[in-house]
Amino acid sequence: MSDPIQLGLVGLGTIARNQHLPALEEVPELRLAAIASRNATLDDLPSYHDIDAMLAGEAGLGAISLCTPPQGRFAQAVAAIRAGRHVMLEKPPGTGVSEVQALARLAEEKGVTLFATWHSREAAAVELARALLSDVAIRRVEITWKEDVRHWHPGQEWIWEPGGLGVFDPGINALSVLTRILRDPVRLERAELEIPSNKQAPIAAQLAMETASGAPIAAEFDWRQTGPQTWDIRVETEGPEVLLREGGARLYVDGQERIAAEDREYRRLYARFAELIGAGRSDVDLAPLQLVADAFLLGAQRAVEPFHE
Ligand code: NAP
Repeated sequence: MSDPIQLGLVGLGTIARNQHLPALEEVPELRLAAIASRNATLDDLPSYHDIDAMLAGEAGLGAISLCTPPQGRFAQAVAAIRAGRHVMLEKPPGTGVSEVQALARLAEEKGVTLFATWHSREAAAVELARALLSDVAIRRVEITWKEDVRHWHPGQEWIWEPGGLGVFDPGINALSVLTRILRDPVRLERAELEIPSNKQAPIAAQLAMETASGAPIAAEFDWRQTGPQTWDIRVETEGPEVLLREGGARLYVDGQERIAAEDREYRRLYARFAELIGAGRSDVDLAPLQLVADAFLLGAQRAVEPFHE
């Protein structure tokens, strides 16, 4: 096997520590070689304050993984691509559709790989659900994505700011799975966004969508759910009913459990990143972000009670 690609990671927050660092230890094609963090260092690894210092100090880096919030990631990605590095983006790939299109163009011009990741698509049951749905007519889809923002995002101000997406930060994961398991393109028809009166982003949203062949899709996203958390996608078809639970980790077909597997999402993302680099290709699918952008364009806004942590 050839030498591993040296990777620099930017932004040592929740997802970097919980998922990226352990996943990188299990993907031999990549080696974590440096980090850029405003606040943290890691033992035995060169640490830089920001990506520019890291790019200047680490000539051997072949790839960069951006684990920062979406706001500000565009400038980091541009710096990395201009410096000739392959780039992997956390979801959502940007604060808007046009900036990710600009990144994809720049990556192509520079001949580097751009990988806009959707970690939920790597959940254990997603590909089987897609296969099961490949040749049956879809009647109806119902998405229920309800979680407790205080539990999952303590102290994260960026999620409430423009570009932070509010409840679409988790909701876009559901849309990434939806647009993977259905072969038909999805169109947004209507949306309602519930926005706390002291915030700039929704705490809940209801979407009405439709497949190209006319099957309705209803999605309910809510960040106010305490107790059991719900990340379900139920697809009624002319054949079996396909139900994904726990964000795609579990699959039920006509009520019978078919898959319940451990989480390997980030290991699969990094393995795919290495594969894309090897093949000289990019992977930038904007369908989930486009639906969110459409919900912000089209959505009726309703002010709801202020949110306090
Ligand atoms: P986070 O805990 O707030 O961490 C983000 C890190 O980025 C910070 O710790 C900080 O690291 C760095 N950063 C740079 N500029 C920043 C700024 N202006 N404001 C805040 N942090 C800044 O966020 P996260 O939950 O890891 O989320 C990061 C990305 O991963 C988001 O796009 C999110 O949607 C995605 N994601 C999160 C989860 C999750 O469960 N949390 C799951 C999947 C995907 P330094 O102090 O090291 O500079």
